[in-house]
Amino acid sequence: MAYTKPRPNIDGDIQPFWEGLKNHQFLLYRCQQCGAWYWPAAFCRFHDNQPFAANMKWEPASGRGRIFTFNVHHWAFDPAFKEDVPYVYALIELDEGPMFGTNIVGTPPDQVRIGQRVEIVFEDYPEEGFTLPKARILEEAPS
Ligand SMILES: [Zn+2]
Repeated sequence: MAYTKPRPNIDGDIQPFWEGLKNHQFLLYRCQQCGAWYWPAAFCRFHDNQPFAANMKWEPASGRGRIFTFNVHHWAFDPAFKEDVPYVYALIELDEGPMFGTNIVGTPPDQVRIGQRVEIVFEDYPEEGFTLPKARILEEAPS
C-alpha cells in the first residue's frame, strides 16, 4: 500500500539517526568528552566544543523513557491522518535525559498516563526507504 502521509524531513545532519532506525537502533547524539546525550543534535552545553562537532557522535541509546506529557488528537490536522484519530502524541523523557516526541502505539488513548514507562518501537516502510520511531507502553509500574 502506498504511503500517503507527509514524509520525514531527513537532511544530511540527521541522516545517521534515520539510518540507525532502519537497523532498529535508536541513536542519540552523544558528547565523547563528558558523555552527555542530546536530541536533537546539538553542541555540548557543558564545555567548549571541537570544530565541526568532532567531540559529538551518534551512539545507540536505551530507547526507553517515561511519558512526560501527551495529548490525544481527535481531529486530524492533515487529511492524511484522518484514519488514525484518535491518536496520542507524547513527549517522552528518555532515560538518557533528552525529550523525544512521538506517537504512543498499541494502547487505547484513554489508557495513556503521564509517568508510564515506554520503549521505542520501529515502524518499517522499506519501499519508502525509512523507518519511523514510535513508542509503546511497557508493562511495569511508573517510576
Ligand atoms: Zn560534553
